Order: sequence, then structure tokens, then C-alpha cells
Amino acid sequence: MLSKKVSQITPSYTIGISTKVKALKQEGKTIVDLSIGEPDFFIPEKATERGVEAFHTNQTKYDLVPGLITLREAIVEKLKSENGVLYTPSDIVVSSGAKHAITNSLLAILDQGDEVILPVPYWTSYPEMIKICGGVPVLLQTNKTDQFKMTLESLKAHHTTKTKMLFINNPSNPTGAVYTKEELIPIVNYCIDNGIYILSDEIYERICYTDSFTSIPSISEAAKANTILINGLSKSAAMTGLRIGYTASSPEIAKAIATIQGHLVSHPSLASQWAGVGALTESKTEIDQMVAVYKSRREALIKQLNTMKGIEYITPDGAFYLYLNIGSIKEHVAFEGAFSLKVCDDLLNDYNLAVVPGIAFGTDDYIRLSYATELSLVQEGLKRIETYLQSKLNA
Ligand code: PMP
Repeated sequence: MLSKKVSQITPSYTIGISTKVKALKQEGKTIVDLSIGEPDFFIPEKATERGVEAFHTNQTKYDLVPGLITLREAIVEKLKSENGVLYTPSDIVVSSGAKHAITNSLLAILDQGDEVILPVPYWTSYPEMIKICGGVPVLLQTNKTDQFKMTLESLKAHHTTKTKMLFINNPSNPTGAVYTKEELIPIVNYCIDNGIYILSDEIYERICYTDSFTSIPSISEAAKANTILINGLSKSAAMTGLRIGYTASSPEIAKAIATIQGHLVSHPSLASQWAGVGALTESKTEIDQMVAVYKSRREALIKQLNTMKGIEYITPDGAFYLYLNIGSIKEHVAFEGAFSLKVCDDLLNDYNLAVVPGIAFGTDDYIRLSYATELSLVQEGLKRIETYLQSKLNA
């Protein structure tokens, strides 16, 4: 009965974990849940005001498919002032979250069997999204020594006649790695010269702890023409449940994306879009404050990690995750299937701690935890991980 496509798709690991966490909570257990990439802040005050006002002023009907013009103008202004790249509202399509912006883009670009190069570790939904849209994910292994960033050589090695697209997630979920402009330029130029579109997922760009972040379309006019930029308000403005993401692209691609979106969902909730206007135009200070909190948590956690034995980590330059290498205990753990799944099951069942297995991101020796949650809880989570690791190493 079900399509062949469905049988090729792996259910979301993160959703699987939240389901287990909910079941354990119902049994009365208190779980430290560091599995979800969801900011623990309220949305900015002005976002709330604008959203509520939309309900009171009858802004609850159908509107333009590519998104409210006021919101698209606010996005254009943001991209100009914060990312140094010039778009017009007709280059922007507002969608129901960045996830939707990505699938819209894939539907607009991919034909059946087209290859999409995906650096590993990747955000867990990418391979499945590519498959759903008829593409073939081609995994490009990166190295810990390169901070898990792809190099031009590795890109060339994965380029075939079927390559249509390259995914870049900068800053990265799960590693927090941020590419420098110097690292991006050769990769971007190679893609331009070889007709490979870039999908640049910059959803964590506002949560960045270095000055080295460069938005790919800002590199050159050719880079802008060759890139679909993905961004949104789920992470930067803590608006996960309001579902506002967007693409910025050439007007031709934007038109194609809008045609697809017009048939599938029309446009995201209008009240959410008005909340988005509030977040983009009147909430800079509040967003800066959230970023400052992530930054201070990150510093405290790095200090703690430096005291822990049996663990290697990648210093995150952006986003709000710790990607921890727990390979040191591999030979001390009995497991069938994925090692990181077993570790996460142990942590959940024996230590009441929920984190995400590295296998969800294509690297099985790792676990990911989110610090978009109260610092004391994350610190407690790290303590439990340390106790678990020691129990294995000393067994
Ligand atoms: N891209 C990346 C890299 C993400 O981590 C996420 C959310 N975890 C998304 C896209 C999806 O964001 P949204 O909630 O806006 O759909």
C-alpha cells in the first residue's frame, strides 16, 4: 500500500527520542532532556505583540503566497544590514519553517536521481529530505582534524555528472563549526564553474561566537546567483513553534518555489508572519541577549569539558550544541547495531539523561547535546555522562 519512497526513509531519531522521553516522564521519571535544539527563551516581546495584534485586526485570511510583503521587506533589510547581501522582496519566499524552505528548494531544483553532495556530519533530516524529493544523497566524509569542514579536494572527489547540488550548513548542526571566507571561496567558485547549486543553510548564523561567519551569497554576484540561502526565525528568535523560515534566491528560483508552495500550503500562518516582522524589526536587543546567554553557557561548558576524562569535543564556533566523541569507551560497551544508539539508551534508561546519538548525523562515535537549555541542567548532564564513561572505562 505504501510508496517505495516511504520504505527508504528513516524516521527522525530526534522525534524517536522525544517520544521515549515523554513515555518515561509519564512513568513519573525526571529526565534531563538535552536532546532538542529548541531555545529555552520566550519569543521576543514585540514578536508576541505583533502576532496577537494580527488576530485582533483580522489579519487571519489568505495573503500572498511568497509571504507578507512587510515581512519580506524586513528580511531583505536584515540580509542587507547583517549579512551584506542585496536582495529584493521578489527573491524571498517565506515558508513554514526552514525545513519547509529546504524541501521547497529541493522540489524546485531536483529531478529524479540527481545527486546532492552532503558533508558528514549532517543535520539529521537532510538525507531524508533529499530522498523524499527524488534526489540521491552523496555523503562526503569530513575529518575531525579539519573541524569537520569539507575541503575543495573532497568536494571534487564526490563530483559526478549527476551532481546537481551541494549542501552547506554554516554554522553546523551538530558540530558548531563555522567556515571562514577563505575556506568558502574555493568551494563556492568550484560550484559556480561546474553548475552545482549551493543550498546554504544559515539558520544558526545569528548564534555565532566568532567574527569569521560569511553568508555565501555575500561572496560575489555569481555566488548569490548560484545559491539558495536558507534562514528562519526558529533558532535566532526562539520561534520554533511559529514556523517561519525563508529562502533567498534568484527571482527565477523564487518564482518556482512560490509555485510549488502555492499548491501545497499557500503560505505560513499570517499571525506567525506578523510575529516574524516584530522579531526582525523590533527585537535586536532581546535577540542579542539570548546570544549572550548561549555564549556564557558555552564558556562554562567548555571549562567543564576540559576537566572530563575519556571525552573529546569540538569547540563550537556557532549554534548551541556540543558534539562529543565518546569513542574511548567503544571497546567497553556491548552493542548490536549502532554504538551511539546504545550509549544514548544507557544514558536515558540508567542516568535519566536524553541526548542524541551521533548516528543520527552520520558519525557513530559521537553524541550531541543541546545547551539551548538552562546551564545547570546541561552541567548536570555532563556530570552524568562523565559518571557513565568512568563506569565503562573502569569496568
Ligand atoms: N536546518 C538546521 C540545520 C536545523 O538544525 C533545523 C532545526 N533543528 C532546521 C534547519 C529546521 O528549522 P525549522 O524549525 O525552522 O524548520
